Amino acid sequence: MSEHIAVIGAGFAGIAAATSLAQMGHEVTVFEKHDGPGGRARKFHHEGFTFDMGPSWYWMPDVFENYFERFGSSVKEEYNLVRLDPSYRVYFEDGPLDIPASYSEMKTLFETIEKGSGEKLDIFMDEAEVKYNIGMSKFVHMPSHSAFEFAELQTAKDALKLHLLRSFSSYARKYFSDPKLLQLLEFPVLFLGAKPEKTPALYSLMNYADTKLGTWYPMGGMHEIVTAMQRVAEKQGVKFEFNSTVEGVELSNKEITHLKVNGALRSCDAVIAGADYHHVEQHILPPEARTYSEKYWDKRTMSPSSLLFYLAVDKEIPELQHHNLFFDADFGKHAVEIYDTNEWPDKPLFYACCPSKTDKSVAPEGKENLFLLIPVAPGMKEEEGTREHYFNLIMERLEKHVGMNVRKHVTFRRSYAHKEFIEDYGAYKGNAYGLANTLDQTAFLKPKMKSKKVSNLFFAGQLTTPGPGVPPSLISGQVAAKEVNKLIGKRVLVSS
Ligand SMILES: Cc1cc2nc3c(=O)[nH]c(=O)nc-3n(C[C@H](O)[C@H](O)[C@H](O)COP(=O)(O)OP(=O)(O)OC[C@H]3O[C@@H](n4cnc5c(N)ncnc54)[C@H](O)[C@@H]3O)c2cc1C
Repeated sequence: MSEHIAVIGAGFAGIAAATSLAQMGHEVTVFEKHDGPGGRARKFHHEGFTFDMGPSWYWMPDVFENYFERFGSSVKEEYNLVRLDPSYRVYFEDGPLDIPASYSEMKTLFETIEKGSGEKLDIFMDEAEVKYNIGMSKFVHMPSHSAFEFAELQTAKDALKLHLLRSFSSYARKYFSDPKLLQLLEFPVLFLGAKPEKTPALYSLMNYADTKLGTWYPMGGMHEIVTAMQRVAEKQGVKFEFNSTVEGVELSNKEITHLKVNGALRSCDAVIAGADYHHVEQHILPPEARTYSEKYWDKRTMSPSSLLFYLAVDKEIPELQHHNLFFDADFGKHAVEIYDTNEWPDKPLFYACCPSKTDKSVAPEGKENLFLLIPVAPGMKEEEGTREHYFNLIMERLEKHVGMNVRKHVTFRRSYAHKEFIEDYGAYKGNAYGLANTLDQTAFLKPKMKSKKVSNLFFAGQLTTPGPGVPPSLISGQVAAKEVNKLIGKRVLVSS
């Protein structure tokens, strides 16, 4: 039986949900408030430069491959994916360190930094691979309605291998003691969600993704993934309506019958909300239809927000790689400022992405496209001059390391932080990547994919299962689509 499903938001999760449902035979319309798809992965142009606005690290290539194959295509047919080598550069106080794409070179690098660590890296990576495989083959595809799902799958045994109850920090220290090695292993969890002390050791699977599966880049920019997903969605019959803001719902018998879109009522049989969970519940649904209260949200640990700068530079910067992490500051102190004391950081770590190193299409000849990211606590208020202060603070450090005055070559600068995340996505406290990956916010402890109050409403995206990041959001949309399809199957049974 074909039903009309409405999807709110054309981010990765919304498009993945819509495409899956269209493939199952349903009529699907995606309502997106912006003038194009991508959500946090939108792009913009400025005088020959193309800036990706959000994600820049392409990890877990298997997830993208599986996605496109599911719809009769492949990554190769959709965009030109290249592996970066070195994967990235890290600037420590005493200079740069390139992280090689080759695992054997990575082992040698570890060994030169800490004697005996090469062999330990093998054990660490073997365990991380087990976690990745269990996680990706089972857990991420579960809707996580309740803890029982986990009990059903011979999971007690698997759960032990996942190291859910051990902290990432103590787990990494079991193998390594050099501060540089620890920072290399801890940065993915720190940037994407929480202090390593609060993050389960499960997330060493990110190190497997980084080190073994590699860092990739789609030529043309990360937005190429979005364009490809839109193409594939439209082939399945999905209709996109851009510049279409969902403002409210009409309910009957605890079901949504209509969405209010740009002031007009649009009928639907079920809804997948790919927009931010808190925004949908608190600003689109009436109070009686909300599963969670403001108090609930206030108690969540949000992932960091980011202070971002997009720069056009009219000169090449030879000393930068594509991805550059500036770890020339106190790692622990910045983590405390983000996650514990919630204050503007004193001397933050930051990240500089220079995609023009790999891709000549994103900047005019002889120029660089530069994207700077400082992770900051969610919910921060800015004062006049805050952005200017941080711009100069990090540019001074960047210039010192790359040995040139970059600021005098900046011909365009745009910044983006909490205020813009709230205006553009209704992001709770201006979060950039949803909820932190803490143990008490993992799997069935996250905001639920299925609304408890509205029987035909489901959520997808980085604030529900499996979590933040492009690959999890892609998976989330597909899992939510299956849940909607199950609901429709049940309706057919009841009516027949
Ligand atoms: C700066 C930054 C850097 C990142 N870096 C990486 C990275 O390197 N690698 C990685 O894997 N992940 C990264 N991430 C995380 C990743 O981008 C996100 O997890 C992912 O894009 C979230 O997708 P989503 O579909 O859940 O949500 P979104 O992309 O936020 O999509 C939600 C959509 O809903 C729309 N919407 C909102 N409200 C309404 C409404 N009322 N009506 C209609 N539409 C509405 C929004 O406009 C948006 O298009 C980064 C994120 C940011 C912000």
